[in-house]
Amino acid sequence: MNGLKISGKPYDLNKNTIEKPEKIILTHLQNDLSFEYTGFHYSNPAKNLYKYKLEPYDLEWIDAGTQRMARYTNLDPGEYNFRVIGSNDNDVWNEKGASIQSLIKSAWWTRWWAYIAYACLAVGLIVSIRRYELNRILVRKKAQYLSELDTMKTNFFTNITHEFRTPLTVILGMTDNLKSSVENLPLNEANKSLDMIQRNGETLLRLVNEMLELAKLESGKLALHPRQSDVIPYVKYLCESFHSYAQENQINLVVYAEIDHLVMDFDSKKLETIILNLLSNAIKFTQPGEKIIVHLNQSLISNNEFLIIKVKDTGIGISEENLIKIFNRFYQIDISSTKHSEGTGIGLSLTKELVELMHGTINVKSTLGKGSEFTVHIPITKNAPLVKEVKMDQENLIISSSIHNEPLLNQNTDTNLPLALIIEDNQDVAYYLKSCMKGKCETLHAKNGDIGIEMAYKTIPDIIVCDVMMPGKDGFEVCATLKSDELTDHIPIIMLTAKATIEDRLIGLSYGADAYLAKPFVKAELFTRLDQLISLRKKKVRKFENNGFSQLLKKRIENPETKFIKKAINIILKDITDNSFGSAQLAHKLNLSESQVYRKLKAISGKSTSVFIRSVRLQNGKELIQTTDSTISEIAYAVGFNDPAWFSRAFKEEFGFSPSAMSK
Ligand code: ADP
Repeated sequence: MNGLKISGKPYDLNKNTIEKPEKIILTHLQNDLSFEYTGFHYSNPAKNLYKYKLEPYDLEWIDAGTQRMARYTNLDPGEYNFRVIGSNDNDVWNEKGASIQSLIKSAWWTRWWAYIAYACLAVGLIVSIRRYELNRILVRKKAQYLSELDTMKTNFFTNITHEFRTPLTVILGMTDNLKSSVENLPLNEANKSLDMIQRNGETLLRLVNEMLELAKLESGKLALHPRQSDVIPYVKYLCESFHSYAQENQINLVVYAEIDHLVMDFDSKKLETIILNLLSNAIKFTQPGEKIIVHLNQSLISNNEFLIIKVKDTGIGISEENLIKIFNRFYQIDISSTKHSEGTGIGLSLTKELVELMHGTINVKSTLGKGSEFTVHIPITKNAPLVKEVKMDQENLIISSSIHNEPLLNQNTDTNLPLALIIEDNQDVAYYLKSCMKGKCETLHAKNGDIGIEMAYKTIPDIIVCDVMMPGKDGFEVCATLKSDELTDHIPIIMLTAKATIEDRLIGLSYGADAYLAKPFVKAELFTRLDQLISLRKKKVRKFENNGFSQLLKKRIENPETKFIKKAINIILKDITDNSFGSAQLAHKLNLSESQVYRKLKAISGKSTSVFIRSVRLQNGKELIQTTDSTISEIAYAVGFNDPAWFSRAFKEEFGFSPSAMSK
């Protein structure tokens, strides 16, 4: 072997042979090797033949002929052994030949430790990306949770304002009433007002207490004050106090106790809150005609005795997705039947925490549309001081008496006064409104939006005072429905609301509400709105009277009120020659009842139906006198009068001059 070239440059074979003298160490860049060799038989070196092989690169010997160089380019890192054998021209091969060993080292980044480093880096990278992603998800979830909490809190504050403002309206309003008429007010009415003030004050107190209790629970400061007594009569008593409330809502409340007595430790106040919440929810979310069963029992579960209280209703039920959330604080299911009803969303969360404070559990089973069943398990212990009977607190009766029957609410006598329809789910507020309007308006009361709409269609009131937050159809929906129906679109609507923000007012106004009254309000405010709206209506009627119908029919602008009148006039004109055409026929053709037509026409034109029909006939007669050559008696018959003398009399009454004064 007499030479090695790397990338065409001679390489000193004596250097870099640290390991073994015959092994040369090269870097990964020194991979273009040219081996030079000379023959071993020097007799005729030009005729020497060669074979070489780079192990393990070549599998076979390569015939080089007389060529004395072998070149390998682009060799991979690894150990190589270059061997060469030669022969003289007699074809005698020197089998031993010569060899040179080389090691092409791999690049540092392809070494095993580099790969480990790569693996570590990759793992590190994946972990960081994953962590980053998890972090992002966490941040997103947190933001979502915060926004949900925010919405829940906003709802809570809206609801709580409503819950506070409603009793405050009654308290402040009734106090105002009492103050202004302290001398003239009959004793029973004064007493009634005082009762209402007290009751609503107690409702506020209960609300505040519930909130405080929740706050105390949160800080772990709420303690149980158990007494040992018979729990069954106490729970029965609590349920009984709900009977009139249930009856009021036409719900059958049945208490079914499998045991008559069970002496155990219980904190009466806390148990009362639990029962109160479960029962008031059951009643609130159950339709009239349905049933609520309270079932009391005692049971042994894994060697522990439990008191079991089940409250089962056949109400609206709760969907599976909402079922897990109803015990969350401030959570209220957002469905049309509940979204605007009373409530704060803290009832069930407080109930659950109180049950847990008693080391008990609360479960719920529910099917949407079929009903719900809340089951409370309270462990039975008998360690507290024994008392004969737990004191039945008068406050317990808040619920039963706050929704009192008020038969007088819809009794009216004075029919000359304008008719006001009050749509309000809170009986006390409705009563307060009615008492405010006494002597000023005749009043009717509807306890929810659906009934309100029905009553508005039936009675066509002169004005409507409507609460915004109600179960079923809320005030906005009532407003939108009535304002888009030609029968009721003229009726001014005053919205009563605890949500008095600009946005809420704008929503109300966009639905067509005519005025807003924020709770709590006093009589003077209500009167101002009523007077404004009634006088506006009167002005419209006067304008209508002055302009007459002919003007109206010519007017191109369609406004809802004139639309109805136009329709009525056109119906009358079609049958104008028929002298028997009267209120009944007009109502029939309009597909309405006579009283509906009467009230609608009276509200817009100030005239009764028969006077209105006569006016249309006379107006038409007047036009015929002006535009035709017919005689007055011909015209009288043509517009449905069967006595020309009567036509002339009525004409003079209507226009102030006789028809003959007009005829040419
Ligand atoms: P709220 O003050 O709104 O009643 P709760 O915490 O008592 O608050 O109840 C939370 C929600 O659970 C209610 O808004 C209602 O949608 C639902 N809910 C509670 N009880 C019942 C029931 N018996 N039937 C149907 N839905 C119910």
